[in-house]
Amino acid sequence: MNEDKDGLYKTLLESTKAIPWKLNWITKEFEYIGPQIESLLGWTQQSWATAQDWIDRIHPDEREQTANLCISQSDFGVDHEADYRALTADGGYVWVRDVVHVIRENGVTTALVGFIFDISERKKMEDVLLRLNKQLESLSFHDSLTGIANRRMYDRALQVAWTRAQRNQNPISLIIFDIDQFKQYNDHYGHAAGDKCIIEVADTLNNSIIRSTDMLARYGGEEFVLLLANTNKNEAIELAETCLQLIANKRIPHASSTVSNFITVSAGVCTMIPTDNSDPVSLFEAADKMLYAAKQKGRNCIEYSGPRSSVSNNRNLSGI
Ligand code: GH3
Ligand code: MG
Ligand code: MG
Repeated sequence: MNEDKDGLYKTLLESTKAIPWKLNWITKEFEYIGPQIESLLGWTQQSWATAQDWIDRIHPDEREQTANLCISQSDFGVDHEADYRALTADGGYVWVRDVVHVIRENGVTTALVGFIFDISERKKMEDVLLRLNKQLESLSFHDSLTGIANRRMYDRALQVAWTRAQRNQNPISLIIFDIDQFKQYNDHYGHAAGDKCIIEVADTLNNSIIRSTDMLARYGGEEFVLLLANTNKNEAIELAETCLQLIANKRIPHASSTVSNFITVSAGVCTMIPTDNSDPVSLFEAADKMLYAAKQKGRNCIEYSGPRSSVSNNRNLSGI
């Protein structure tokens, strides 16, 4: 009867996908490992003689950590589980989960019994999900045409920079760039050429960035925002002028422009030291007003409110 029962258990154990095993914790020798191990890893049942065989077949990257965890938990009498890559007989690796139950007698660990599960499919899925998530994150914060930050990213960055400027009472600047007479450009050269032009302008503006805290974003169609943390008015104005010059240097033909024979941009600049209850939107609104003024003035220029201050430009020296 008992033999029948044992036989039944054995059949059950050996027909599951999970691979059962038992290790004598006193001698550190395997007393049993299911035959399924051979189809999973290629190693024969007989090749699992001691705990060392198990340790040797763990991927070197997680070997020490896995072995240490298992040894200490087993000594303490705590059931545990570990995910690791198991070496296959042909030199590959398979992700497995080892679930371990600790058997104790009179407070001393005498044996471990466990199951090894093949989790390679799940791991593959996790990797795919991780990659997709990263892609999604990058897609949701980057403009797909130019690759620079999008408006969503800008909104977040502005909130962070604004709060910091408020706390430290530092100036924060914003430049809004808008390509001049871009509708005519599209009409003249076609939408695909328009896309290329937007990419080139984005690249050019992006090249003007020297601080890690500066952020250029595509705000919309042919409008870009350059957010400059810890940057005073003079510094922002100078940077805006440099940007206009860099765009002009590109000499992108614009035959139907009434401003120039080449692509030009207009820019509105605004600098603020945030007060206690001020709103970051006010920075954008003020810069947008200045952009409008630049357009009114004839385009291909920058506008800012109030006089240029006499404070010298130390952006390059004080870089944060
Ligand atoms: P202004 O000098 O006053 O800025 O005039 P504008 O023609 O540049 O401005 P307007 O806002 O009238 O037109 C902007 C144009 O930009 C219209 C729109 O078709 C074009 N545009 C917006 N997004 C894209 C884009 O992703 N690709 C292309 N090719 N064109 C775009
Ligand atoms: Mg526009
Ligand atoms: Mg425009």
